[in-house]
Amino acid sequence: MSGPKDNYQRIINYLRVSITDRCNLRCIYCMPSEGLTPIEHKEILRYEEIVRIVRIAAGIGVRKVRITGGEPLVRKNATYLIASIRNIGGIEDLSLTTNGILLEQYAKELAEAGLERVNISLDSLRPDRYREITRGGDINSVLRGIEAAEKAGLRPIKINMVPIRGLNSDEIGEFAKMTLKVPYQVRFIEFMPFGTEDMWRPEKFISADEIKSIAERIGPLTPAKLGKSGPARYFRFDGASGVVGFISPLSNHFCGECNRLRLTADGKLRPCLFSETEIDLKPALRGGAPDDEIRRLIKLSIEVKPEGHNIRIQNTELRSLIKNKDDRRRQMSRIGG
Ligand code: SAM
Ligand code: SF4
Repeated sequence: MSGPKDNYQRIINYLRVSITDRCNLRCIYCMPSEGLTPIEHKEILRYEEIVRIVRIAAGIGVRKVRITGGEPLVRKNATYLIASIRNIGGIEDLSLTTNGILLEQYAKELAEAGLERVNISLDSLRPDRYREITRGGDINSVLRGIEAAEKAGLRPIKINMVPIRGLNSDEIGEFAKMTLKVPYQVRFIEFMPFGTEDMWRPEKFISADEIKSIAERIGPLTPAKLGKSGPARYFRFDGASGVVGFISPLSNHFCGECNRLRLTADGKLRPCLFSETEIDLKPALRGGAPDDEIRRLIKLSIEVKPEGHNIRIQNTELRSLIKNKDDRRRQMSRIGG
C-alpha cells in the first residue's frame, strides 16, 4: 500500500477511529470500576464529521480504516457509519475492534454494510474470570458473537488477548491451543500502562517473548507469513488451522514500522498512542473550514508523528499513565487502543 510519508519515511495509510468513549464493559486494565468521566455528547464527532475526515484522509492516501472505541457497537447506527465509509473511494480495508458483547446482534448487518473483518477482545475463556476482568461481562454473549461473525463472513476472526501475570497468564496455553482446531488468529498483546493507577505494575507485565515461550510448551511454532500482518509477528503450530500472533508495543516496539494515525472520539488526531500530542480537528470542522484546511491539519499530524515512544519496561517506577478518572489524555476508550 502506498500513502503519505512522515518525516521518518514511514508511509502513513492507516486511520483508527474511536467513535465513542462509552462502553458496556469496565475492563480492569482499561477503566476504573466507576467508569471514566464521559465526554459530553456534543463534543463527540457526529458521523458526518467522521465520514468527512475519512474522505479527506483517503484523498491523501489513507487506505485502511479501523473503527474502535470505547465499545463501537454501543453507539447507535454504527452500521450506517460502516456503510458510509465503505462508499469512500480509496478505502481498501475496513475493520472493527469490539468486545463482542453485541456482535451476535450486529454481525450480519455489519457484514452487509461492507465491514470486512472484526477483532474481538477476549481475555479469559473462563466465565467467572471473564466476568471479573470485564467487571460483569457474560462470556457466552461474546462466544455467540464470534460464531455470528464467522457465519456472517467477517473473516479471518482475530481474537485479542492481553495476558496479565497472576490474572489470566495461566490461560495463554489454552488460547494458543484454540488455533489447532479453528482458523482464528489468536493475538497476544502486551499489557500497556493504561487502566487505573494501581492496576499496572512492572511485575504484572509479560513480554511477548515470554508469552511465546509459554505458548511453545504446546509444540514448536514456525513463522507464518500473512499478507497484511501489521505489528503482529505470526506463528503456526504444525498442522494448525489458525495462527498465533504476538504484539509487543513495549518490549520490542514497532515504532519504525508504525503506519497509523488515531482519531479520538472527540475529534483529535493523535499521531502516537503514547504521546499526548493531538491535533484538534473539531474547531475547523465546526467552524466551516473548507476541505483544504482539514487536509492541512491531517498532513500536519503526519508531520508531527514522533519517531517512537520512550516507555521502557525496565523502568521499575513505571505506573499506569492514567492518573484519575478525569484524565482524558490517556484514556484508551477515547483514543481507541
Ligand atoms: N471495546 C473494544 C474492545 O475492547 O475491543 C474496542 C476498544 S479497546 C480500548 C481496544 C483494545 O485495547 C482492546 O483489544 C483492549 O484489549 C486493548 N486495551 C485496553 N487497555 C489495554 C491495556 N492496558 N493494555 C493492552 N491493551 C489494552
Ligand atoms: Fe470497554 Fe474495550 Fe476498554 Fe474493555 S477494553 S473497557 S471493552 S473499551
